[in-house]
Amino acid sequence: MNIHEYQAKAILREFGVPVSRGVPVLAAKDAEAAARELGGPLWVVKAQIHAGGRGKGKFKEKEAGDKGGVRLAKSVDEVKAFAAQMLGRTLVTVQTGPAGKQVNRLYIEEGSDIEREFYLSALVDRASSRVAFVVSTEGGVNIEDVAHRTPGKIHSFSVDPATGVMPHHGRTVAQALGLAGDLAKQAERLVRQLYAAFIAKDMAMLEINPLIVTRQGELRCLDAKISFDDNALHRHQEIVALRDQTEEDAKEIEASKFDLNYIALEGTIGCMVNGAGLAMATMDIIKLYGEAPANFLDVGGGASKEKVTAAFKIITADPNVKGILVNIFGGIMRCDVIAEGVIAAVKEVGLKVPLVVRLEGTNVDLGKKILRESGLNVIPADDLDDAAQKVVKAVRG
Ligand code: GDP
Ligand code: MG
Repeated sequence: MNIHEYQAKAILREFGVPVSRGVPVLAAKDAEAAARELGGPLWVVKAQIHAGGRGKGKFKEKEAGDKGGVRLAKSVDEVKAFAAQMLGRTLVTVQTGPAGKQVNRLYIEEGSDIEREFYLSALVDRASSRVAFVVSTEGGVNIEDVAHRTPGKIHSFSVDPATGVMPHHGRTVAQALGLAGDLAKQAERLVRQLYAAFIAKDMAMLEINPLIVTRQGELRCLDAKISFDDNALHRHQEIVALRDQTEEDAKEIEASKFDLNYIALEGTIGCMVNGAGLAMATMDIIKLYGEAPANFLDVGGGASKEKVTAAFKIITADPNVKGILVNIFGGIMRCDVIAEGVIAAVKEVGLKVPLVVRLEGTNVDLGKKILRESGLNVIPADDLDDAAQKVVKAVRG
């Protein structure tokens, strides 16, 4: 689960992490009070969306004065103007995809005087079963580019959970960032605080980009992105309460209600498959034949008719879907249940695109018979290869 920058900073503040003072704002009329509370003389108006790259982002339907989703303001009037300009608009960044995200919340912060910008992140490293830190002097920019062009500028180390953060970790960070004296001490304290927050809140990823040194000689987290481990959310109701469903894919929210493993993708072929491995193979073979999947969907082992119906409805509701491929190997899952679910869903919502069905396994003959006798316009397929070719051909008309 992801949260907004202002929520992430509130959590980090609880652990003593240095962040700027700020006020979240949901309506343009509240921007002035927020600006006056912070006092100035410099403010930052920041669009709150679950995506990075806001500073260099662009609004859709360009208007005069647009300059991305992070703006420095030098007066209360500027804060008000920027807030009015951003709220309700759609911001497109390198991380949102071309559709962009609507800005419904802002964070107004006291402005910092930046001397240097660094990068710091922490994540669960499954290979070492530890929390790994990544630090770089190249902050404020796309870290993937840094890794690609100047890998030597990226430093990483991991923390043994048995000992936690040790003084040498702090020294490693200070050295990697070229910090000495009091700043080195601040770096050591920061790593300790971030690690404590990471563990206590069951984070999967924590990214501070940029981590800055101010002209006043302070280390400060200027941006914060946190992803939590979904499997640990049951013990963090305070984090679940921060969920902003407007930031999530509506189809994925609907799928989660039915306990379906569903991820929306960009392609044109809707897939209904059982088992994650078969779902991956199905996506691969669609790509092999030159089209792309519109989703990943694993209906699971013992899915009920209701679950299959819900899954099929989610797929057909997606306007990008130009064809559907049902690919089921019935082991625990029964092919007749799949057939009944598909028919029930089509009765409710209709079927406007070609449907290719490949069934194999338990009760396959019964499943095929149910589909045949339903009068549905199903294109039957014999195997995975045949099914993929047929659905690709169908969407290409
Ligand atoms: P992102 O573009 O979504 O990653 O948003 P950030 O919060 O990282 O802000 C983008 C950039 O805006 C930062 O890298 C800074 O260069 C700049 N910025 C953000 N806050 C301040 C601030 O308080 N003072 C100054 N001078 N620049 C800031
Ligand atoms: Mg950033």
